[in-house]
Amino acid sequence: MSLARTLLLKASDSTWLREHGTRAPFVRRAVSRFMPGETFDDMLGAARAMAGQGVAGVFTRLGENVRDAAEADAVAAHYVEAVARVRTAGLACEPSIKLTQLGLDIDPQFAFDHARRLAQAAREAGNFLWVDMEQSPYVDRTLEVVRRLREEVPGVGVCLQAYLLRTPEDLDDMIERGIGVRLVKGAYKEPPTVAFPLKADVDEQYFRMAQRMLAGPARARSGRAVFGTHDIPLIARIREHASAADVPPDMYEFHMLYGIQREEQFRLAREGARVRVLIAYGPYWFPWYMRRLAERPANVWFVAKNLLVRNLRT
Ligand SMILES: Cc1cc2nc3c(=O)[nH]c(=O)nc-3n(C[C@H](O)[C@H](O)[C@H](O)COP(=O)(O)OP(=O)(O)OC[C@H]3O[C@@H](n4cnc5c(N)ncnc54)[C@H](O)[C@@H]3O)c2cc1C
Repeated sequence: MSLARTLLLKASDSTWLREHGTRAPFVRRAVSRFMPGETFDDMLGAARAMAGQGVAGVFTRLGENVRDAAEADAVAAHYVEAVARVRTAGLACEPSIKLTQLGLDIDPQFAFDHARRLAQAAREAGNFLWVDMEQSPYVDRTLEVVRRLREEVPGVGVCLQAYLLRTPEDLDDMIERGIGVRLVKGAYKEPPTVAFPLKADVDEQYFRMAQRMLAGPARARSGRAVFGTHDIPLIARIREHASAADVPPDMYEFHMLYGIQREEQFRLAREGARVRVLIAYGPYWFPWYMRRLAERPANVWFVAKNLLVRNLRT
């Protein structure tokens, strides 16, 4: 792991930086590259614009590790209302939640109850519920909640991280249960005892799991097959494999983050691929933004350059 990535991922956990860094106007301007605004209406506006280009949406209200039960209750209530508003707006936009934002650190049953309420609300609105994957100590608890949700509601999917050594087994289990899978590379700092340190190994494991998700038995289980990546050569490889295996393009999807590889999102949609963009909003964006910077250290130079240019001007 590069030094820049390690430092940025450490910064994502810093309360001091979160409290002070988010006030700096240049940081607020820089983050707008990755999120259209802090409010749900900002998200809706962006989702509407993307829909005009053939790209559907996924939405997430940023926040994690909520340890106050009343705050977790408020997050759940927000999502229930948000799902109703998306339906009224007539947009194809799916919620994606973090279980630690719904109180997983307080009590798994408490988080499950909230997630079940959201999964049911999503189902009633003809929608689907995605569950994000957080740091490795949360994987077992997250998968357990998702398994229990799937027993009650069919429209549920979970994010799996290709950098974790364990993930191929988790993938088999999710496929077996007909749970939707959004496969990503993984965004957190993890030790080599649980995750591949080398990007080449992560990429290879990702592609092997993608093949598994596109294979006949997995498709027959009817969970969704989603590839959450901006890696253009990897996307091309997956599409080539799907085409060679006669998997029609409407059997799988590509999900990307708002503001990253935008032209690629539009190009894939024009070519008939199913594409969604995940749009984040909310005031609690600092750790999430640090992870976006860590994914591509060139982003830090982008922020530093803006800061320098501004200081030279003033
Ligand atoms: C829809 C979606 C949902 C996600 N949900 C989760 C989750 O629940 N849990 C989790 O751990 N991770 C999640 N992630 C993040 C993921 O794990 C990766 O950290 C992230 O997607 C970067 O990896 P990559 O696949 O794009 O490939 P990389 O090999 O990292 O990047 C490929 C190329 O994409 C571009 N790129 C990638 N990231 C950025 C960036 N931040 N800024 C600018 N350009 C960039 C660069 O051109 C880069 O060369 C999610 C990602 C997506 C797209």
